[in-house]
Amino acid sequence: MDFAEPEEHRALRAAVAGIAAKFGPRYYAERAAARRPCTELWQALGDAGFIGVNIPEEYGGGGGGLTELALVCEEIAAAGTPLLLLLVSAAISAEMISDFGTDEQRGTWLPGLASGAVKVVFAITEPDAGSNTLRISTTAQREGAGEVGGDDWVLRGTKYYISGVDEAEAILVVARTGQDERGGQLSLFIVPTDAPGLDKHLLPVDLLLPERQFTLHFDDVRVGPGALVGKEGEGFRQVFHGLNPERITGAALAVGIARYALGAAARYAAGRKVWSEPLGAHQGVAHPLAKAKIETELAALMIRQAAWQHDHGLPAGESSNMAKYAAAEAAIAAVDAAIQAHGGNGLASEYGLMPYWGLARLLRIAPVNREMILNYVAQHSLGLPRSY
Ligand SMILES: Cc1cc2nc3c(=O)[nH]c(=O)nc-3n(C[C@H](O)[C@H](O)[C@H](O)COP(=O)(O)OP(=O)(O)OC[C@H]3O[C@@H](n4cnc5c(N)ncnc54)[C@H](O)[C@@H]3O)c2cc1C
Repeated sequence: MDFAEPEEHRALRAAVAGIAAKFGPRYYAERAAARRPCTELWQALGDAGFIGVNIPEEYGGGGGGLTELALVCEEIAAAGTPLLLLLVSAAISAEMISDFGTDEQRGTWLPGLASGAVKVVFAITEPDAGSNTLRISTTAQREGAGEVGGDDWVLRGTKYYISGVDEAEAILVVARTGQDERGGQLSLFIVPTDAPGLDKHLLPVDLLLPERQFTLHFDDVRVGPGALVGKEGEGFRQVFHGLNPERITGAALAVGIARYALGAAARYAAGRKVWSEPLGAHQGVAHPLAKAKIETELAALMIRQAAWQHDHGLPAGESSNMAKYAAAEAAIAAVDAAIQAHGGNGLASEYGLMPYWGLARLLRIAPVNREMILNYVAQHSLGLPRSY
């Protein structure tokens, strides 16, 4: 076992950090406050080949894996510029199209995803089926010219909290195409964001995030046979394959946020004196930061294991869940300790910590919530009875 990071990974980290640093936390905070996407940063990373680092070279990508994409996510967040859509467009959508798409779908979508010119967001969550994916009620039915059983697919239903629809060319939609004893048989479809019958409504959230969320109504949205990704009815297995990349990159984003917050807090606590010593000399200030630093490094190790397993085609569910749990908790602890160390300044726009607190807090809920991870570990790692 070799814990030394390969030279090419260190170079990747440095190059990504260099680009992100040109934008920096001020840029991120301003975009978050205005709810405007960080388009220039996305494009700069795309131009340098980092958005598509995990996409096969034949489609213009970097030919790497989740290990490399996780490094990109971590470094942009550590520079104070976390990009939420990397988790959906680069991690889930690109991985699923790459692994399960037809040659035509790969040729259509992967070059744009690799260059950063195109985003494909991901829609699974529904008002009546959040954590319980098998309960989704959005349907896709085969229809011809107005008749059941034709070649087209017609989608009906509602999704909500879908991030980045306003920035994306298409949405990878999870829909029900049948029913078995476990619940819905799921399938995946690529639906253009301008498809007739697709209604998009802004869903306001009180997080300071550049990416906006939407409620989507599919009102007889018709797509051709080429919109189905992978096999009909295999969506559940495919989605679970795609959720590991989302968890790994979500964890990497969280580790980057923690690194950013701890760096800001350490600088502040070393510099500010309100008694005879700097604030950081007080253990009440230093210990929460040190504890969060330990938790962050532990989470980072688990991310490396999860990404390595995924990239080697090994089962990565347990490690991806554990990495995501550990990283989200570490990020919340780090940002919270950083805010506390800043005192009143921790809440000031000038110090810009609150956007990271909101994002870290989101990462405890999404892409998978803390409790569903604990359920997974209790059941699959410990062999305890399923509780739900
Ligand atoms: C800002 C934002 C962006 C998002 N972006 C996207 C996106 O791009 N695409 C997308 O599809 N979705 C997106 N989501 C949705 C997100 O993935 C869901 O909110 C998340 O999966 C949890 O689902 P839910 O909100 O329906 O919670 P619910 O399923 O209603 O659960 C609520 C809470 O109950 C607890 N809980 C639930 N089930 C159990 C159980 N069995 N045992 C113990 N506790 C349980 C958990 O604490 C959970 O947090 C986004 C959400 C937000 C807020």
